[in-house]
Amino acid sequence: MDLFEEARRIINQGEICDSCLGQIFADRGHGLTNRERGNAWRTIFAMENGEMVDREMDCWVCLGEAYRFDEWAELAIEEAEEIEFETYKIGTRMSPLLEENSKLLREVVGIPMDSGEFLKTEMNREVGKIIGDKTGKNFAAENPDVTILLDVSSRAVEIQVNPILIYGRYKKLIRGIPQTRWPCRRCKGSGRNAEGVCERCKGSGKQYEESVQELIDVSINEILEGNSSAFHGAGREDIDAKMLGTGRPFVVEIKNPKKRSADLQILENRINKMAVGKIEVELEGIVNRKMVSHIKELSASKTYTVGVKFEEVVEEEILRDALGILEGVEVEQETPTRVVHRRADKTRVRKVYSAKGKSMGGTGAELEIHGEKGLYIKELVSGDGGRTKPNLAELVKVGAMVETLDVISVVAEEGSFDVPEYIIRKK
Ligand SMILES: [Zn+2]
Ligand SMILES: [Zn+2]
Repeated sequence: MDLFEEARRIINQGEICDSCLGQIFADRGHGLTNRERGNAWRTIFAMENGEMVDREMDCWVCLGEAYRFDEWAELAIEEAEEIEFETYKIGTRMSPLLEENSKLLREVVGIPMDSGEFLKTEMNREVGKIIGDKTGKNFAAENPDVTILLDVSSRAVEIQVNPILIYGRYKKLIRGIPQTRWPCRRCKGSGRNAEGVCERCKGSGKQYEESVQELIDVSINEILEGNSSAFHGAGREDIDAKMLGTGRPFVVEIKNPKKRSADLQILENRINKMAVGKIEVELEGIVNRKMVSHIKELSASKTYTVGVKFEEVVEEEILRDALGILEGVEVEQETPTRVVHRRADKTRVRKVYSAKGKSMGGTGAELEIHGEKGLYIKELVSGDGGRTKPNLAELVKVGAMVETLDVISVVAEEGSFDVPEYIIRKK
């Protein structure tokens, strides 16, 4: 079928607007809108037949939707009024009726189902253009700040605000707080049970009153007006361990933020002021999602200071010899007894890069141990009933256990946590 024949057949299918006509020829004539394409055909046929051009159509294909782009744009701008964004993307949820109509048109004309383009694609583009012109914001196909959803059936606009990801490092200055929010074990986070308020958590729904995550996200949510968060750490320390030294890398993901432009220095100051004495953060920048998998997957070695209690006094020289043996050794560790109920029972081999320390007089000692990712320090000291080999207790021939454990550095085994390409905006 030649082009003229095709256009003529479409026009003969009852009242069809210029946009719906032009859509079929969307891949012909660059720089034209579909309406201009349809308009051109109708002009040609009117001249051919010496008729008046009728552009007041009650289009049975789009039911007038192709003439409502301005309305949609206005609705979207109104809906997004309270939300701060620089980049956006449009998505259209077409009504099943209109989708059916445009298929029917192709069917009755006898052209392939994928001829030209569909109203959905045109709406995404044209409404997007109008929004851009009216607001000065930019279209972005990848990682936009917001996705504007046009729902044709309900004639409503929904703004999906994409999360904002902030990368930084935290120090945990006190023991006893977990890295992330833990739901209460008794009530599973609801804060309630059959008898009313959960006694274990007193209705908070949390196992621990505070967490590193909450000490960070409460301040950020206040400023960015987000409604929740997810926390991604480069590993985690035990609840009863401090995290000191250079801190631990993390990405906090703030969901549904109404504000995005906040100064990270102001955020950082606010967090550090609110959480003073508990945690301390240094924010590096706004990052893309690749940073999350990067910091989670990167192998990192850790250095700990370890407070050890022996069952009997251990001579300084014996302690030094034992640490000398541990330094550089590959330790075989079965999954520790304390975590075997929630992790697979297997044997892993982890390297002790360095082991130093001194007796603190009496039965106490302070060690500094640098180990490969995943090395269990408490078990390296106690032996965990023979499940870790070799171990300090066995080497000094005196029972030993860890009293205090602090992480003083988290260092990537290879490469670096900081990847400039993943940083969208630096502090
Ligand atoms: Zn139409
Ligand atoms: Zn509870």
